[in-house]
Amino acid sequence: MPTPTVDSEFSFELLVCRWAELGWPPTERGAVDASDTTRPDADGPPVIVSRQLGTQRRRWDTIVIECDPEGLAARREFGEREIDGDLLPVVRHAPADWAYYRDALPDPGYPWRYVREAIHRAAARGLVDKRKQGNRIEIRRKRPYPDWVERIVAVENKPDLNASAAAALSDQLEHDVETALADEVWLATGRTGERVEPALLRQFPVEAGVLTFDFGGSDRTGVDADAATVDWLPSELDVTAPTERFDATEKARRRRLLAERAYGKGWRSITETMRPDCRWFELERAGRGMVPVCGAKGRCQTQSECSSRCDSFEPEPPQWRTKGWPIDGGPGQGVRELLERRRERAREQ
Ligand code: SF4
Repeated sequence: MPTPTVDSEFSFELLVCRWAELGWPPTERGAVDASDTTRPDADGPPVIVSRQLGTQRRRWDTIVIECDPEGLAARREFGEREIDGDLLPVVRHAPADWAYYRDALPDPGYPWRYVREAIHRAAARGLVDKRKQGNRIEIRRKRPYPDWVERIVAVENKPDLNASAAAALSDQLEHDVETALADEVWLATGRTGERVEPALLRQFPVEAGVLTFDFGGSDRTGVDADAATVDWLPSELDVTAPTERFDATEKARRRRLLAERAYGKGWRSITETMRPDCRWFELERAGRGMVPVCGAKGRCQTQSECSSRCDSFEPEPPQWRTKGWPIDGGPGQGVRELLERRRERAREQ
């Protein structure tokens, strides 16, 4: 099958995410060779990859969470869903033995009734135990919440790095370096056959690394572990140092939340916002990755195009869901299940 044209930032971003699963960490000698099943034994930490995550002010295209293997195994015991910002203090500080929740948990800085709601939610999800002693709610942990995150890496994707794109990106990368919420910041761009223009590189902070990718060149059929070339190595940022915007405690809290959101969301959550139930929606293989393709448009559609507002949207015919289709629920449901299975497998690496 021919490689689909990587003709949008969206499909480039999906392939960068897939590459990160296969080939992280990038090194000067080339990316690590690993596959879905051998990844834990490969020369690199297990990684969780997600996309479009960040803070109110800054959203990153790709986030790579480098995980401690034992910590990640312990995190899996808490289930596959994100532990959100209200639940996390309860889960992290729940004591080994029963205790009144106000004695066990740090002062939240907001009314305790919200903490009680979080305790009920956490208990309903099986994250902590709770009981009532008289009028008092007591809590107990089920298991310690692990330190499962080793490093957080932020990647900004810009397949076509022309001068105006470089100028816009330089401010964002400056901001990332200054706030240092991530341990490393990278720019990922398309390979042109020439090295990235030194004049463009000069616009970026020297602390940001540069990766170039070739997903569709004549000698390549999509994404694999060797798709990236390191053009510039990044500097390690000091994530423990306070900055103008965040003190060290707030930074640590935000990093934990970011990691949890990445864990829960992954990068294949596109099926929750796109329309795989449209008759024109297809997944096309691109090497060891897949990208959505629209049969009506004859190209990779963007995430924002592929919604119920799309003029070309047509629901898949009912007969696809009943007769002759090998997956219960029709191809749309099949696509959703396929991507969900892959998302779970990525968490289990
Ligand atoms: S026609 Fe519209 S909704 Fe259907 S796959 Fe294409 S972009 Fe998505």
